[in-house]
Amino acid sequence: ATPMSITVGTGKGATNGILIRSAEALESAHKLDTVVLDKTGTITKGAPSLTDVLPAQGFSPQDLLTLVAAVEASSEHPLATAIVTGAKERGLSLPEATAFDSITGQGVRALVGGREVLVGNDRLLSAASIDAAALQTDLRRLAQEGKTPMLVAVDGQAAGVIGVADTVKDGSVEAIAALQERGLEVVMMTGDNRDTAAAIARAVGITRVLAEVMPEHKAAEVKRLQAEGNVVGMVGDGINDAPALAQADVGSAIGTGTDVAIESSDITLISGSLAGLVTAIDLSKATMRNIR
Ligand code: ADP
Ligand code: MG
Repeated sequence: ATPMSITVGTGKGATNGILIRSAEALESAHKLDTVVLDKTGTITKGAPSLTDVLPAQGFSPQDLLTLVAAVEASSEHPLATAIVTGAKERGLSLPEATAFDSITGQGVRALVGGREVLVGNDRLLSAASIDAAALQTDLRRLAQEGKTPMLVAVDGQAAGVIGVADTVKDGSVEAIAALQERGLEVVMMTGDNRDTAAAIARAVGITRVLAEVMPEHKAAEVKRLQAEGNVVGMVGDGINDAPALAQADVGSAIGTGTDVAIESSDITLISGSLAGLVTAIDLSKATMRNIR
C-alpha cells in the first residue's frame, strides 16, 4: 500500500479505537483466514464471580470457603479474586495462610491453621496423588453450565468443589458471527476445563476449541495452526497470551489487558471489544483495495 493509504487507514483505525502499530499489520489483517481467541478476558469479561460452594463429607460450606479463600488471598488470578470477594460478601473472616505456592495453569496451595489446602484443577490433585473421584459429578455439572470448577483438597483428602462463573462480553457474539461471515475460522483457546470451554464456545457460536492449554503452550498452538497452512490472527489480554500474540501473523491485544500483551501485539483494541478486530480487517481490505 502507498504511505498515503496507510496513513488514512491507520487514522481511521484510531478514530474507531483501534491502534495499528505498523503498515505491515494493516496490510496483513485482510489475509487472515483463522482467528484464535483467548477465552477469559477476551470473549468473556474476565471478572468472574463465585457461584457455587459444594463441600464434601465432613465440611460445611462456610469451612470449605474459609479455607479456600484464605489460600486464594495470596493469588492474583481472576479466579482467586472472585473467591476472596465471594467469601467477604458472605461475611467470612479469613485466617492467615502460610507457605503459599502457585502452580501455573493448575492452581494454588498453602497451609491454613496447620492444614494443607490445595485448590485447582484435576491436574493439580492428581500430581499430588489425591483421589478426586468423589468430586467428579459436581465438577462435570458445573463445567457443563459453563462455570469454572475448582477442586479442593485438605490434608490429602477431597474436600469439595468451588464454582466460579464469568459472563460473555457485550458484542462478542456479534463480532464472532461477523468474522465467520467474512469466511474466517474462529477458534477458542483457553487454559480452562474442556467442558467449561465447550459450554462457553457453544454460547458464542464457536465450534473449534483448544482447551486445557498450558500458558507456555499457547504460542505452540498458534504455530501448529500456521503449519496447517493458515494465516492466523490471535486476540488475547493476559501476560500468558503475549508469546502467542507475537507468534501470530497479526496479534491483537484487548485494550483493558496487561501491558505485556499490548507490547506484544500488532493491533490494540482500545474499546476492549472484539468488534474492533472486525473493523480492523475491513479497514485492511479497504486500504489494500485503494492502492490497486
Ligand atoms: P486461562 O487461560 O483461562 O486464563 P490459566 O492458565 O490462568 O487459564 O489457568 C488454567 C486453570 O488453572 C484454571 O482454569 C484453574 O483450573 C487453574 N488455576 C489457575 N490459577 C488458579 C487459582 N489461583 N486458584 C484455583 N485454580 C487455579
Ligand atoms: Mg485471558
